[in-house]
Amino acid sequence: MKQALTAIIGNEALRTRFGEDARLGRFPHACILEGAKGTGKQTIAKMTAAALVCERKNDADTPIPCLTCRNCRKILEGKFPDLIVINREDKATLGIDAIRFLKEDVHIVPNDSDAKIYVIEDADLMTPQAQNAFLLTLEEPPSYVHFFLLCEHAELLLETIRSRAPIFRTEPLSSEQIDNYLCEKDSRAAEMKRLSPSEYADLLSASGAGIGQALSYLEPKVWAPIRARRALVRELITAAIDREGAKNILTLLFKLPQKRDPLEDYLLSAADAVRDLMLLKKSDLSPLSFYSNRAEASELSDRASLLFLDQLLRAILQAIEDNHKNANIRLCLLHLATSAELI
Ligand SMILES: [Zn+2]
Repeated sequence: MKQALTAIIGNEALRTRFGEDARLGRFPHACILEGAKGTGKQTIAKMTAAALVCERKNDADTPIPCLTCRNCRKILEGKFPDLIVINREDKATLGIDAIRFLKEDVHIVPNDSDAKIYVIEDADLMTPQAQNAFLLTLEEPPSYVHFFLLCEHAELLLETIRSRAPIFRTEPLSSEQIDNYLCEKDSRAAEMKRLSPSEYADLLSASGAGIGQALSYLEPKVWAPIRARRALVRELITAAIDREGAKNILTLLFKLPQKRDPLEDYLLSAADAVRDLMLLKKSDLSPLSFYSNRAEASELSDRASLLFLDQLLRAILQAIEDNHKNANIRLCLLHLATSAELI
């Protein structure tokens, strides 16, 4: 039983509990999975769904989901008709239309098993109207239905929803767990670790605590632009701290993308980098979100005053805001340089 849901890494307590509850038929009709992006919410929901419909559920000697029976395989292939994922597609919120569909769909009995499972992604971005509509379904769900509400901030859900669905939290993985998993899963990870350890450290750091993110970064086409962004941001922050002179600074600044969305990514990375350096002034052990080489970051932090870093961070945050307000991009970057007194 302990091996249940072995396909999930990390979150041991959760996966053991979910596996046992699914096997014993006491899995709740609705639950909220709360956790930061990349902490495995989707995977846990999918694997628990598989455990709920696994054809070997009653075989006490088999860890579930078995991942080999017909139902398990269909779930892994994304072809199981009774697992329905609802998301906001490219909209900012999850609106009433998606919930209206769900309200009707729950009454259609399952096709292939005795359960029907709905995974609602970004449930905390449901509009109040959608939440109220969902509540009606949640109050009296058909007996075969299970809802997984995935979210980053459960407090944004109506109290009446939260009181009907227990909240479980997913924990981020340590970089050691991610490292082990990646090297085991994908030979490209082990190879990069061996041939280019600093690049590999950079990839782990760029992926935050997200295993899915880290796996996608192993794809060279995905990783190349992120790597380039991180390199330019590092170069720019170092040049700023070393007061490299207006010409150099402007050359680097104008290498930043001249389009709003990609520029925002660069500026957000730069803000993370400066925050790291400010945190290092407080303690050498501060968790870092941008720099992967702590020694390099500590040394850089020592070269800058806190006052300067603070001024630089404010200038970057202002540039992010200006960029949002459709300011002229070159002017926005010039303003960054002057307000941080880089030129
Ligand atoms: Zn199975």
